[in-house]
Amino acid sequence: MLDVTQAKLKPAKIAIVGGGIAGASVALYLSELGLDITLLEKGPSLVNGPPICHLHAGGNLYREISEQQCLTLLAQSIDLLRLYPYAADYRPTVVAVPKHDKGTPEQLLPRLKTLQTEYERLINLDPLNKVLGESQDYFQLFDRTELECLALQEPLDKPQTLAQWMIPVAKNADLDKLQFPLIMVHEFGLNMFRLGASAALSLEANTCCQVLTNSTVTRISPALPGSGWLVDYQQAGLNKQGEFDYLINAAGFRSGLIDDLLGFKRPRLVEFKAAYVSRWTECDCIWPEVVFHGERGTPQGMAQFTPYPGGYFQLHGMTEDITLFKQGLAASTEQSAQPKLAEVFLNKIDQSWTEPEIIKRTNRAIAHLSAYIPSFSSAQIGAKPLFGAQQIPGGDPTLRAADVSFVGDNYARCETVKASSVLTAADVILQKLISTGLVDKKTKALRSFPVSERVSEQVITLRAEALTKEREFPLSFAHINSTKP
Ligand SMILES: Cc1cc2nc3c(=O)[nH]c(=O)nc-3n(C[C@H](O)[C@H](O)[C@H](O)COP(=O)(O)OP(=O)(O)OC[C@H]3O[C@@H](n4cnc5c(N)ncnc54)[C@H](O)[C@@H]3O)c2cc1C
Repeated sequence: MLDVTQAKLKPAKIAIVGGGIAGASVALYLSELGLDITLLEKGPSLVNGPPICHLHAGGNLYREISEQQCLTLLAQSIDLLRLYPYAADYRPTVVAVPKHDKGTPEQLLPRLKTLQTEYERLINLDPLNKVLGESQDYFQLFDRTELECLALQEPLDKPQTLAQWMIPVAKNADLDKLQFPLIMVHEFGLNMFRLGASAALSLEANTCCQVLTNSTVTRISPALPGSGWLVDYQQAGLNKQGEFDYLINAAGFRSGLIDDLLGFKRPRLVEFKAAYVSRWTECDCIWPEVVFHGERGTPQGMAQFTPYPGGYFQLHGMTEDITLFKQGLAASTEQSAQPKLAEVFLNKIDQSWTEPEIIKRTNRAIAHLSAYIPSFSSAQIGAKPLFGAQQIPGGDPTLRAADVSFVGDNYARCETVKASSVLTAADVILQKLISTGLVDKKTKALRSFPVSERVSEQVITLRAEALTKEREFPLSFAHINSTKP
């Protein structure tokens, strides 16, 4: 452990490996506290890993997870919205249970009521937590008669009420295939280009943080026994080295490679998954997100319809022909903390997809959604897929709310499964830094971020537009349909 008197003389030097949403957000949090942060990211920009499109503010997409995970995701999502208010698309989500499904909408209601009560409690604790609207509006039920009335109305450019948001669904969904009521819940969209832009701009504005992009960590060794780390990295073909008091591994699905460099064991899973981008030019109205529940891994797996501006829709279908892949889930072994994904998936991540694969899987995704929204069958391929490998610490593939683990006094792993968990992860790391004497014990967990708050929405939009160009996605992906109320 570092000598406490020594620590008081200069702020602890902390290296974070990986500039995805986890590493970038922990860097933002710790640099707002004035700590000396170096963020090392292999790629050219931040938050460029697997997609992030949904704010799981209650975990209502997942029937299989525990109520406790849903409550955790709710609280964490509220925190994330407070950190990145301009990265969310403030439109609700419809949850529909098809008639062929074994579940019923009624089974979902007790959990929704618990979440509503918890949201109210969080607002009472701190009024600034009211980021999902009024607690009594957290969710609303719609029966068939109401939907048939809404189907007669024209969709609005700026829907205000949940009923107005429901009009496109009422007009276009095949109601004969669905059980009632339909549920509309305040789970918003998350835009990864705007998340990347918000994080990068905040970090650039903070003199305590050095962001090193195009920098791959290749070797880590102890500086002196128990006192810190020497981190070797390659930047633009040059070998460089930095010395740090503390190391945070936020390398996403490659966190196991960093553990392997240090000889640390860790059970974990990684799962390769993909979402597809369609363009529906006939559609000229603003949609909520729509989720049709289904049994994961079967041909009727959950279908998720995520709107972007410009008639673009991101599609998930939880079948092995669409979002999931045969052998797409890999586990770590006794020999290595890094699960070995098959070469075919690593090639997709590091290089690209073939054109026939993109066409085949995107068309299947369009067909999967058209079963519930028949007019959507006229949609076309809109862009390349959004995909990647998601890390899951431990051995339970249904785990959704995860954050940090530690080895000794100067190494943390930040392994979030969902973007919303990043502030919890930062809180836990802060507590560890306090307990090891690297940070003053009077330091409090942060929920306001003065440097970040000075970055304007317009500047975030411009940077997000630049990221869509750099990554070859439609410009509309930098924009949102519905702004913060
Ligand atoms: C299809 C799909 C859909 C998803 N949808 C959602 C969603 O709607 N909402 C949600 O919350 N989550 C979603 N997720 C999960 C989400 O994408 C991940 O949880 C999240 O991206 C993890 O962030 P991360 O920062 O931990 O990892 P990553 O984003 O993978 O970041 C890790 C970074 O580390 C860098 N790195 C790795 N090794 C090194 C090294 N040696 N040196 C330097 N840098 C290194 C990588 O380049 C990378 O940028 C989805 C995942 C998938 C696959």
